[in-house]
Amino acid sequence: MADYPVPELGDKTPLQAAYKPNMDSIAAKGQSGLIKTVPDGSPPGSETAICSLLGYDPRKYCTGRGPLEAPSRGIKLGPNDAAYRCNLITEKDGVIVDYSAGHITTEEASKLIGAVKEALGKPGIEFYSGLDYRHFLILRDFPHPELIECTPPHDATGVKVSAVLPKAKAADAENWVGLLVDLINSSRDILRSHPINVAREKAGKRPGNLIWPWGGGRKPSMPTFKEKFGLKGAVISAVDLVKGIGTYAGMEVIEVPGATGMYDTNYEGKADAALRALEDVDLVFVHVEAPDEAGHVRDYALKVKTIEDLDKRLLGRILNGLTEPHAISILPDHPTPISIGTHSRDPVPFAIKSAGLRPDGVKKFDEFSARNGAFGLVKHDYLISLLVHSANR
Ligand SMILES: [Zn+2]
Repeated sequence: MADYPVPELGDKTPLQAAYKPNMDSIAAKGQSGLIKTVPDGSPPGSETAICSLLGYDPRKYCTGRGPLEAPSRGIKLGPNDAAYRCNLITEKDGVIVDYSAGHITTEEASKLIGAVKEALGKPGIEFYSGLDYRHFLILRDFPHPELIECTPPHDATGVKVSAVLPKAKAADAENWVGLLVDLINSSRDILRSHPINVAREKAGKRPGNLIWPWGGGRKPSMPTFKEKFGLKGAVISAVDLVKGIGTYAGMEVIEVPGATGMYDTNYEGKADAALRALEDVDLVFVHVEAPDEAGHVRDYALKVKTIEDLDKRLLGRILNGLTEPHAISILPDHPTPISIGTHSRDPVPFAIKSAGLRPDGVKKFDEFSARNGAFGLVKHDYLISLLVHSANR
């Protein structure tokens, strides 16, 4: 949700421009602040920020997108196994033209990954298909993924494949790098002439003609949410990343029908699931991806709409349904400013409302109002502690 002032919105941010009485009431009745969810040196993305928000220092527990997303596909990892995200991408004349192979469908992609698996898979080298272009490469007994530098394909559009192939950060990783590069190069011959790709090209769509492993790492070993905070927790989200972190944290992962991770997500369903969950758990973390996607496509009107939908259809419904005393917080995980179309490292606004907190004079929930909040600037992984502390006051 967080952003910079947008000229088309009269130099207001989407949060300032949106009609969002429920978020504003949390700020007005509670206390606000800014939180730097992405520590210096960590990549500015949800893998970092969601770890922070759940109270886990990303510098310690964020081992990569691959291992954090793998559990929501039922992939089990041993202590020496490395999980990579394995995109199907489009290469043309030696250049990466699309990190998503034209947002290839899950059905087509699973057949392509199936062909790669049949040709290149063997004991220790496993391929798993996931959603759309997002797949997995699991390397068993692959001890040092941290010594290999892989480029996220969404950061390499228009770049030569040869310039961004995996690289060794230390001499003893050369062999392992060779394996990854071989897999990428071998996938080219398998995918190029595959009937699915031939048909896609005929229809004017981009083929998934190369695999691209990135975001590799071993599974994090982290204390459970219960061990850390003494609370039973649950997560509600459409995206594998949030569900995966929730799984490692020992939280209940609640599936909501119609939760898509896009603008058409089931806001009401998520609210109802959260209220139901609170009958059993102490804390529920509800995640909505839609404003981030609107930021990526640089559509300010759509971003305002996603914030208004979230406010009315999800947050308002939760606030109406809460009967017992409670503490509640609202915040984005990281900014996705319209003007840059990608994530930024800026601190994000947050607000907490709880019976034990006196209002701090901040009336609205947005990037600028939160600067005057009582909490000031907060360290990346303090949110849950602040929330729990405010609930116990
Ligand atoms: Zn994003």
